[in-house]
Amino acid sequence: MIPAAPLPTQPRRWQQLWRDAVRDPRELLELLGLQAQALGLSPEAAAQFPLRVPRGFVARMRPGDPFDPLLRQVLPLEAELRPAPGFGLDAVGDGAAKAGHGVIQKYAGRALLVATGSCAVHCRYCFRRHFPYAEETAAAGGWGAALAAIRDDASIEEVLLSGGDPLSLSTAKLVELTDALRGIPHVRRLRIHTRLPIVLPERVDTELTDWLSALPWPLVIVVHANHANEFDGEVDAAMRRLRATGAVLLNQAVLLKGVNDRVETLAALAERGLEAGVLPYYLHQLDRVAGAAHFEVDDATALALHAALVARQSGYLVPRLVREVAGDTSKRALTGVPDGRPAPPVA
Ligand SMILES: *Cc1c(COP(=O)(O)O)cnc(C)c1O
Ligand code: SF4
Repeated sequence: MIPAAPLPTQPRRWQQLWRDAVRDPRELLELLGLQAQALGLSPEAAAQFPLRVPRGFVARMRPGDPFDPLLRQVLPLEAELRPAPGFGLDAVGDGAAKAGHGVIQKYAGRALLVATGSCAVHCRYCFRRHFPYAEETAAAGGWGAALAAIRDDASIEEVLLSGGDPLSLSTAKLVELTDALRGIPHVRRLRIHTRLPIVLPERVDTELTDWLSALPWPLVIVVHANHANEFDGEVDAAMRRLRATGAVLLNQAVLLKGVNDRVETLAALAERGLEAGVLPYYLHQLDRVAGAAHFEVDDATALALHAALVARQSGYLVPRLVREVAGDTSKRALTGVPDGRPAPPVA
């Protein structure tokens, strides 16, 4: 007998895991055997940008360690509330760069489609914590305006699905989107920026890989892990399934004080990624977003770390150290003289 296909409305396993994420900071600390007072936990910071972390990601944190690098990425702390000059609400100029409803185009040849505002994990350093993406997503408008913006600009050869996390949409919705993109002849590449294969590897189910395998374009998937401990056997298996679709896998990380600001840590991240079949792409200097100042690594330190990586790693294991600067035509490589002055122009 052929089993009946599941009803489209039936929640998938990954959706159940998504809903089951830890959202109460006290529960998170309890799971890890930690005391709230000692950590500088802040209910006010949690009210500004709620805690959200899938249980599988919590399981990769070290119990009893308040400085665990995965915990630091998600825990709402008092430090977020300290005013920090230069740290604002729209750190990367997305407000000005919008080209259409849910489409952001800053760079030649590629446009970023804000597919959704939701994420399975809430990363404290993320600039999206202040961005009203809930109303600005392409899915909210039924894709119509976003697709029209892409269709009307023949210079757009690459579409980037981003968010939020685009894989937080149901696979049915993603199929709908790429079916519409197939009808646009100048679209030649697809890129997906997602943290889900790292924080909720169960998202990479057969339904998803069937969709990816059937896409007509070269496919690049950029995942986001900041520390080697974010990888485990489940993540490795999800990466294998993604690679089997023909996708090229890259990782972007953010340089974060107290998380990955040591050369050994960055080297281990690149090596662990390679074991999972993922090469490093970018190492981002933090976007200067209000609430994230305590994560900032100064440029001199960032450059020194990067130089140390170059000195010890194979070239393909060294990410490009970049910063996003509003108004620039690409991510800006950090090459500055370590006192913060820009590098002299190259003749
Ligand atoms: C980062 C980004 C891209 C991608 O840039 P690449 O250097 O090609 O990775 C595209 N569009 C926007 C708006 C971006 O912020
Ligand atoms: S967009 Fe990425 S970095 Fe920001 S909260 Fe979502 S998963 Fe984290």
